[in-house]
Amino acid sequence: MRTWPALVLTFPQPGTPPPDGEPDPRDLASAELDGLDIAAIVEPSDSAWQVCFQDDGARQSAVDRFSRAPWAAAIHITSQDLPDEDWARRSQASLGAVTVGAIVVTPPWDAAATAPAADCITLTIEPAMGFGSGHHATTRLCLAALQRLDLRGGDVLDIGTGSGVLALAAARLGATRVIGVDVDPDALENARLNATLNGSPPAVAFVAADFRQGGLDPASVVVANLTGGMLAASVPELLQACRPGGWLILSGITAEEAEAVTAAFRPHVAEEWRGTEDAWCAFLYTVTATTSASPARLS
Ligand code: SAH
Repeated sequence: MRTWPALVLTFPQPGTPPPDGEPDPRDLASAELDGLDIAAIVEPSDSAWQVCFQDDGARQSAVDRFSRAPWAAAIHITSQDLPDEDWARRSQASLGAVTVGAIVVTPPWDAAATAPAADCITLTIEPAMGFGSGHHATTRLCLAALQRLDLRGGDVLDIGTGSGVLALAAARLGATRVIGVDVDPDALENARLNATLNGSPPAVAFVAADFRQGGLDPASVVVANLTGGMLAASVPELLQACRPGGWLILSGITAEEAEAVTAAFRPHVAEEWRGTEDAWCAFLYTVTATTSASPARLS
């Protein structure tokens, strides 16, 4: 049987919520693991995660990141090689439907139990390795932000599409051209599967790309659920992806990172809305100015 290089993270004070305003170490660990080649995260108990990596290099990168993060001293980390026991599917099997405003995100096994209300948009999402099942606060904040906009007839760029949940939501909210972009081929495979589970909306296409390389057609609405660090370091690229006067939704930002992200974008945007959940933060901006580093943009 094949095995997976894994780290077992044991968190302090199992089941105890962190003090007010302090991020949950699980959220910090999620942010730290972002962008690494992770096959799955299994949660055998409240206090432990088994993080399975695609290869030893990815595991080593995680060890390096945790060793540089002062907060991570509070978690106990051990290295293991875990046998493949279809853990990815089993770990997600207990997930149920999630509702954000008028949108219900449901795994296929809960779809039948989710009563389709007349004014509800139901999206069927097969939970997979990456984020995007709707069970993460950062995704829910994006779903809330998208519903503040009138997307009918508009175009949307979903940067870091993961499961495609936000792209598919945008199409159901009326957008007529939606591009979901991701660097991770597994995410794109899952996004395409989810498109078929939702009737293959003709408005939606998924593209393999690192948005920081540029070359994406600008859209009037850009949603990027990444990390605060990556967002703050990618101001020109994100502004170039957005038409002047367009909307920019940023998520994946911890409370600690919020000020740095705000400071990085402030000269170029006006904040229209800010959402918070579980010490995560998201912004809805209108783009008011380009950066001097930006090339001429399409109208
Ligand atoms: N949009 C989904 C998934 C967010 S998880 C949701 O809101 O739930 C973040 C995703 O961004 C991951 O799938 C990751 O592979 C992708 N990603 C990370 N860095 C990226 C980059 N530089 N360019 C494109 N995609 C990236």
